[in-house]
Amino acid sequence: MGKRTKIVATLGPACASEDILASMAHAGMDLVRINTAHGSPADHERYIKLAREAGRAAGRPLGIVLDTQGPKVRLGELPGEISLAPGNEVILGEGGIPLRHGDLPRFVPAGRRVLLGEGAVELLVVEQSHRALRCRVLRGGVVSSGKGVNVPGVELPYPSLTPSDRDSLRMAAELGVEYVALSFVKSPADVDEAREYVGDRTRVIAKVELKVATERMEDIVSAADGVMVARGDLGVEIGPYHVPVVQKRLVDLCNARAKPVIVATQMLRSMVESPVPTRAEVNDVATAVWDGADGVMLSEETAVGRYPVEAVRAMAEAAQAAEESGFPIRVPGLVPELVGQVPGACAKAAVGIARDIGARAIICATVSGWTARLVASLRPDMPVVAATPEEGVARALALVWGVIPLTITPTEGTDALAEASIQAAKERGIVQKGDRVVFTAGLPFWKAGTTNLVRVLTA
Ligand code: PEP
Repeated sequence: MGKRTKIVATLGPACASEDILASMAHAGMDLVRINTAHGSPADHERYIKLAREAGRAAGRPLGIVLDTQGPKVRLGELPGEISLAPGNEVILGEGGIPLRHGDLPRFVPAGRRVLLGEGAVELLVVEQSHRALRCRVLRGGVVSSGKGVNVPGVELPYPSLTPSDRDSLRMAAELGVEYVALSFVKSPADVDEAREYVGDRTRVIAKVELKVATERMEDIVSAADGVMVARGDLGVEIGPYHVPVVQKRLVDLCNARAKPVIVATQMLRSMVESPVPTRAEVNDVATAVWDGADGVMLSEETAVGRYPVEAVRAMAEAAQAAEESGFPIRVPGLVPELVGQVPGACAKAAVGIARDIGARAIICATVSGWTARLVASLRPDMPVVAATPEEGVARALALVWGVIPLTITPTEGTDALAEASIQAAKERGIVQKGDRVVFTAGLPFWKAGTTNLVRVLTA
């Protein structure tokens, strides 16, 4: 059947060629992520076109995720490196180490911790004034220009969308990108604001990476179309030891609402330099699969690493080994609101019937992808085929665990729809003539979210 967990790989200088992307798609990449924290808008547009080309060449729907930069707080310009020793006092802001957000001190009261350089240096604020913070160094280290600044637990008033992020979102909408990943989301309002720029065709993934976001996970999951467990900044904000707990909670919250969830950052970090992963990294991928992640992500491994294709292959092998191990994948079950509605009930019935009769596949004819997501959230043993006339929906479903998206020509009538969907699955070799399949669809077909039909058919 092949691996069922989806792989998101970040596009960067190390893989920005048609040949390498083709090899990455062949190795198991399902979506291409473009990180707008690097490069210019022209670079991002070029990357989007390159990713589209890769999808056409691969002959299967590949999705694109455009990741916003967000209002990352950073140190200002320093003449060189500065060494901070534990126990010493240091001024952050005016008259001391400069800040790009000069008004930051206004929002950080005495007693709060400030982390510099992805958490390498830890400061305790001793005294607050409008333009500067007097701090004691708790954990020492070296800092330089542009290093990240985190203030865990403090909700800074900077909007999660910067002006350049708004331009990125507009570009995503114009070029029909399937997903934007929103950095430094603080609340559901940030997701709602992003929707104003991306419109209906581009879905919004909330990156959970701030401590304040972990305190509102349920509301953020409800507002977004999907979530990324952005473990890099999250580990700085809440400390690395609490990241696995947040990962499990977020994955459960998303699965219970049939929304895709990506586990990201440092999954195969050593492969930036090494052609093979460490045992611990393989274990991390397996854990994400057993937690119930839809997708697992590669960042610098593919963007700037020496082994982008090997990293995708290693991730695919690690995921598939976990899926085929027989150890169960966590299935929280749908939230009561969804079970109590017709589409959720039909998805549950389809999975139950398919298990009982040993169906070869569950085939969902879908215009919005909703039924396929509902079915996949129950993590059935057999392939979930999403047959859709919408190419953008097929590419978006590339992120959903276990879903094989196929495009079909628009068809009227239930019988013709079932026939076209099953035929597409046969052509891909997913089902053979004579196999039993469970077919789901909604009538009227062109109205999204109407799933109300479950049938057992013979291919
Ligand atoms: C992260 O912080 O884990 C993350 C995915 O964000 P970025 O790579 O954009 O820093």
